[in-house]
Formats: sequence, C-alpha cells, structure tokens
Amino acid sequence: MNFAIVGAGFTGAVLAQELAKLGHIITVYDSRNHVAGNCYSERDKETNIMIHKYGPHIFHTDNEKVWSYVNKYGEFLPYTNRVKTTSQGQVYSLPINLHTINQFFSKNI
Ligand SMILES: Cc1cc2nc3c(=O)[nH]c(=O)nc-3n(C[C@H](O)[C@H](O)[C@H](O)COP(=O)(O)OP(=O)(O)OC[C@H]3O[C@@H](n4cnc5c(N)ncnc54)[C@H](O)[C@@H]3O)c2cc1C
Repeated sequence: MNFAIVGAGFTGAVLAQELAKLGHIITVYDSRNHVAGNCYSERDKETNIMIHKYGPHIFHTDNEKVWSYVNKYGEFLPYTNRVKTTSQGQVYSLPINLHTINQFFSKNI
C-alpha cells in the first residue's frame, strides 16, 4: 500500500520506518525544511555549539526496548544539567545551596 505521512518528527519517522519495514511505500511530508520535528538540533554557525531550535531536548526513558530502538537510528550525546542564574550582574549556581549563599552574600560559611 501507499502511505502519505504528514510530519517528520518522532511520530512520523517511527510510523514511516515501521510501515516501510512491512513493505509499504511511504512518502513523508513536512512543512519545515528539515526532519526531526520539534526535536531538531543544529550547529550554531558562529560557535559550532549544538542548539535545540525549538526548545531543550533531553531524551528520557527507562524502557530498554525504546532505548534500543532509538539508538539504532541516531546518536545520543551525554547531557549534564548545569543551571545558572544571574542577579545584579553576577552569575550564581542553581539550585540554591551553601555555595550559592556564600556567593550571594560574599560569605565563607
Ligand atoms: C519547548 C519544548 C521543549 C521540549 N523538551 C522536550 C524534552 O526535553 N524531552 C522530550 O522528550 N520532549 C520534549 N519536548 C516534546 C517533544 O518535542 C515532542 O514530544 C516531540 O517532538 C513530538 O514528536 P512528534 O513527531 O509527535 O511531533 P513534532 O516533533 O511536533 O513533529 C511534527 C512535525 O509535523 C510537521 N507538521 C505539522 N503539521 C503539518 C502540516 N499540516 N503539513 C506539513 N507538516 C506538518 C511539523 O512541521 C513538525 O516537523 C519539548 C517540546 C517543546 C515544544
């Protein structure tokens, strides 16, 4: 059978892949000029830093089947959560801990 799939995000990509494996003919349409939907990432031309164009994307799963499936089709980069905030021109660590308090009040507690 012929299938037209609208959207090249995770949903469309998985459907297209699974239907193609069954021998169906698939055409995927997307109004954007790239695949991956809202999970799309690209390198910033100036800094070469990978940016998440539509929002942060951390892949969460504790399902071995899902993890094994997605790893067949893409490479995942390790992620470390380091949150900072600014107040009156100074940079502080978040979540607030003793170090943040020492920084904020210029103390050595
Ligand atoms: C700001 C933000 C942060 C997020 N952070 C995370 C995160 O950290 N971790 C996480 O797991 N998830 C996160 N998500 C959710 C994740 O983006 C979605 O779960 C995932 O993208 C859904 O995939 P999808 O294929 O269903 O839809 P989408 O990724 O939205 O893809 C749909 C595609 O269909 C196309 N499309 C829609 N309508 C048409 C049309 N009529 N014609 C042609 N093309 C069309 C769109 O252009 C798009 O490319 C975040 C989402 C947002 C918005």
